[in-house]
Amino acid sequence: MSENTTTLPVYLDGHATSPLAPEAEAAMAPWWHRRAANAHSPHRRGTEAAAAVEQARVEVANLVGAAPQEIVFTSGATESNNIAILGIADAADRAGDGRREIIISAIEHKSVLSAAKSLEERGFSVQVCPVGKDGRLDILAFERLLSDQTLLVSVMAANNEVGTVQPIGAVLPMVRALGAMIHVDAAQLAGKLATDVADYDSASISSHKMYGPMGVGALFISAAAQYRPRPLFHGGAQEAGLRPGTLPTPLIAGFGAAAKVAASRLEQDSVHVRALADRLVAGLEVRQVRFRRNVPNEHQLPGSLSLGLFGVDAPSLIDALADTVCLSEGSACTSGQIQASHVLAAIGFSEVEMRETIRIYCGRYNDVSQIDYAATAIADAVYRMTLAHWTNPPVRSAHEGCSHRF
Ligand code: PMP
Repeated sequence: MSENTTTLPVYLDGHATSPLAPEAEAAMAPWWHRRAANAHSPHRRGTEAAAAVEQARVEVANLVGAAPQEIVFTSGATESNNIAILGIADAADRAGDGRREIIISAIEHKSVLSAAKSLEERGFSVQVCPVGKDGRLDILAFERLLSDQTLLVSVMAANNEVGTVQPIGAVLPMVRALGAMIHVDAAQLAGKLATDVADYDSASISSHKMYGPMGVGALFISAAAQYRPRPLFHGGAQEAGLRPGTLPTPLIAGFGAAAKVAASRLEQDSVHVRALADRLVAGLEVRQVRFRRNVPNEHQLPGSLSLGLFGVDAPSLIDALADTVCLSEGSACTSGQIQASHVLAAIGFSEVEMRETIRIYCGRYNDVSQIDYAATAIADAVYRMTLAHWTNPPVRSAHEGCSHRF
């Protein structure tokens, strides 16, 4: 490998989390100490903190086409998904709504899958809509699952493992025609591509996927939603009682700043990260790495790559690159057991193909030299592993090379 001046490791795991934008860091700084206050305190510092929270609410609302009063701050998209799905079901139940069916896609984030599944214990039925080979919702299958019993549909805006943008525009009129509600997990889309939640009933947003701080997110709830979710927690009046608990002013201020920056450079970021991803693909090709793209590029988030490296054990590759290039894998590991990715399985990949899969996200703060370094490092590691495989077949224990997929 040529002499390296790139700071290592090169971080290409932006689907898992994105580095903090300097603007977000600066916006957070005063609220930790110098201007620290509870946003619900009546004194001047409290009022200032409350104003910062409201300013952030406006920025987040602007990013996704909502009104500020439709934004509820949460700890992240996991919580937002749970409040939306469980809270809407609860509200409908209490209103005596007889509809008991929920439709979700097969590639939803675990927070949606698990929240929906938990409703089965409360007498709801959950229909899981398949996706096609292209990693997108199967619209015909979706149409067949809809019925006058459908209360709620939950479909993600973009997938976190393969980066596919989902056809929500096609789903929406069908859902509306039946008078059902729709929740959209926009954690991976918001801040990366133009996002307009105004036609949905609810939507989840995560700060740390858009260069904001971790531990904060938002739930959009349309003023026109048939049912406003009922709270999961009790004990405070914050966020109109829907999400009680002291508001984390610094995190919210950072989230607001990140949303503002993202809104101002959506196009610029898209062009940049798309060019980086294209360069990485070309760099692997030129170095004769044999791979397939797991889903067609045309429906992927710019910057996102899901690659199957032929004959390569991805967890071992990720181990080999651990100090130099941060990637993630296509199969997850729980308690030492390799688990198939439910997303890749739903698309139809075999176990071998899943084990060959790496996930990459080239982000706003990556540059060309990092991408060139990563292409060389991946190609070198693949070459070494292939050589080692033929000269000395590997013996691996089940827990080696595992990481969780977020
Ligand atoms: N939904 C999707 C699509 C995600 O990618 C993630 C994070 N990986 C979440 C929900 C959960 O977000 P958070 O980390 O903010 O709880």
